[in-house]
Amino acid sequence: MTGSDEPTKANAEESAVETARRQLERAAAHLDVDEGTVERLRYPKDVYRVTIPVERDDGTTEMFTGYRAHHDSVRGPFKGGLRYHPDVTEDECVGLSMWMTWKCAVMDLPFGGAKGGVVVNPKELSAEEKERLTRRFAEELRPVIGPMKDIPAPDMGTDPQTMAWFMDAYSMQEGQTEPGVVTGKPPVVGGSYGREEAPGRSVGIITREAMKFYGWDPEETTVAVQGFGSVGANAARYLDDLGASIVAVSDVDGAIYDPDGLDTNDVEDHDETPGMVSGYDAPQSLSNEELLTLDVDILIPAAIGNVLTGENARDVNADMIVEGANGPTTSTADQIFEEREIPVIPDILANAGGVTVSYFEWLQDINRRSWRLERVNEELETEMLRAWNAVCEEYENRDVTWRDATYIVALSRIAEAHESRGLWP
Ligand code: NAD
Repeated sequence: MTGSDEPTKANAEESAVETARRQLERAAAHLDVDEGTVERLRYPKDVYRVTIPVERDDGTTEMFTGYRAHHDSVRGPFKGGLRYHPDVTEDECVGLSMWMTWKCAVMDLPFGGAKGGVVVNPKELSAEEKERLTRRFAEELRPVIGPMKDIPAPDMGTDPQTMAWFMDAYSMQEGQTEPGVVTGKPPVVGGSYGREEAPGRSVGIITREAMKFYGWDPEETTVAVQGFGSVGANAARYLDDLGASIVAVSDVDGAIYDPDGLDTNDVEDHDETPGMVSGYDAPQSLSNEELLTLDVDILIPAAIGNVLTGENARDVNADMIVEGANGPTTSTADQIFEEREIPVIPDILANAGGVTVSYFEWLQDINRRSWRLERVNEELETEMLRAWNAVCEEYENRDVTWRDATYIVALSRIAEAHESRGLWP
């Protein structure tokens, strides 16, 4: 994700680690998994804390703190984003690294989970300062990252340019160009076509499959999307192309509403022109809070975490929720939706197109062979359908929520890999 104002901890009812552990325990309760394996998964394998000295443009030196959490690598190298945000903490990196373990396993990717970041407000850095910070951070992490060890990617406050600097710094020190050390790079230095659109596209694909599951005709389906950034705009446009009616979208400043459906290609997204959504000439303007309670068939929260809470979950009027953002539903809201029988299709499945195309990027880098956009999108479709079908099977065979079914798929794969590899020594 690039440039979002997502508050990483604000309004959180429980921390990312607590959420990850709770989901682990819920899934374990449905499976015959060795208790020792579950215990191992409650903890990260390693957490690295580094200090990054950066020369500011005025010649002074400032020290920044960076982290990289490695959760579990039983299925392959660690994989996960690097965020630049003032609220980054060690605990948050650990929790989000656990989410990445589950997300990669649900998609059956040969990766484990990692997450990292720097405690910094990137908006207060010049481009040159951000480059110096990134290069030094790459150098500090160099012993523990690498194409076969740990492959970072963009996240909040970082973007393809950040990844290009990171890859360059690592490559310079290794003495050879190593594009596979990070994903989310610009295509000209080994990035994949379709990577930027992938998380939103996967939200679109999973929403399409969920509509099929419930027998809904896209042409008769109304959708509201909170956050018209990379994820929200790509998901909205995908569903618009399918014939669904996208009646409301929003950015940080507010929402626009047209009961007859908006032309999502005419509304500029956050990256194209920030602030253009709320400035768009639509029949009605709404607040973000009003968008969340609109009477629509599908609600896609695709902006920030913790927007569906115990406060507003009873007012939600959607018949289904598909999570585009990471962690938009608090545990209290989740419980309320379960009671109200509103299906919630979870983030670790719906927006997993991002890490899936990151995997494709890594394969392209290792093989030194670039894929055409058509191939990327075809393979993404195949992988999303495989994951959806695996989750559907658990959902239909057990009396569980979509979230539980998704975690059951993830945990059963991770547990099986642990049992097969055993505990060393
Ligand atoms: P983005 O910065 O491109 O867009 C975010 C959008 O949300 C913008 O329209 C912004 O105006 C809006 N927004 C910001 N704060 C808001 C608020 N308080 N209320 C309402 N709207 C607000 O970000 P993105 O890349 O689309 O990411 C969105 C979410 O999806 C995040 O939770 C992110 O972690 C998650 N995600 C992103 C990716 C990715 O690769 N881009 C992958 C998986 C998950």
